[in-house]
Amino acid sequence: MSISLRKHASKLIAATLAVSAMASVSAAALEQPVAVLSSNLNSSVGTVLTSDQITTAEQALAKAKAEAEAKAKAEAEAKAKAEAEAAKKAAAQDAYNKLLTDPVAAKTVSYSSSLLATDAIKSNATSLGNYKLTFYCPCATCNGVAGAKTASGTTPTEGRTIAVDSSIIPLGSRVYIEGYGVFIAEDTGGAIKNNKIDILVSSHSRAYDLGVQYANVYLLD
Ligand SMILES: [Zn+2]
Repeated sequence: MSISLRKHASKLIAATLAVSAMASVSAAALEQPVAVLSSNLNSSVGTVLTSDQITTAEQALAKAKAEAEAKAKAEAEAKAKAEAEAAKKAAAQDAYNKLLTDPVAAKTVSYSSSLLATDAIKSNATSLGNYKLTFYCPCATCNGVAGAKTASGTTPTEGRTIAVDSSIIPLGSRVYIEGYGVFIAEDTGGAIKNNKIDILVSSHSRAYDLGVQYANVYLLD
């Protein structure tokens, strides 16, 4: 082999190895230099390279291509994961925003683990701590007068009305009671002070059956 051809072959091998060391190239970006180097090796130098030299160059090219492809795959996976997490976070924020704006519909009050405070609630709302929950109904025994309006003038409604200490939770506030959902602070009560909430239900027997509970409470607005 002539000296110039040996030099040429050495340069090509060096260039090939340099390509293999390019950690940041994508598989696509690698295609062209790989094709050019392969072509040069075959046509310009071809027979002047020993089989060992060709094998080394081919292995380096294959390795570089595999590494670039693995890197591109890992990057695509990381991107997909980040996008999924961002979508999940956005959905949680949307769900939280709905708690602030959607009408608080009348519903049967009962504990549900599906109503535990979400991360969005914990990070956006004001945590008021653990509260003692009692239950009352619109009857004369519970209210003094049967069928009375709430302290804020509304009709007591199960699933919406709660009585609070209005010096802590202003009347009209939306309150998230963990395990029970969203309520509106509409009423007050002589015994409802500090960290106590009285939850309105539609019948005296249900109020009696629900007894006393404890739950974490969040002020939504
Ligand atoms: Zn009652």
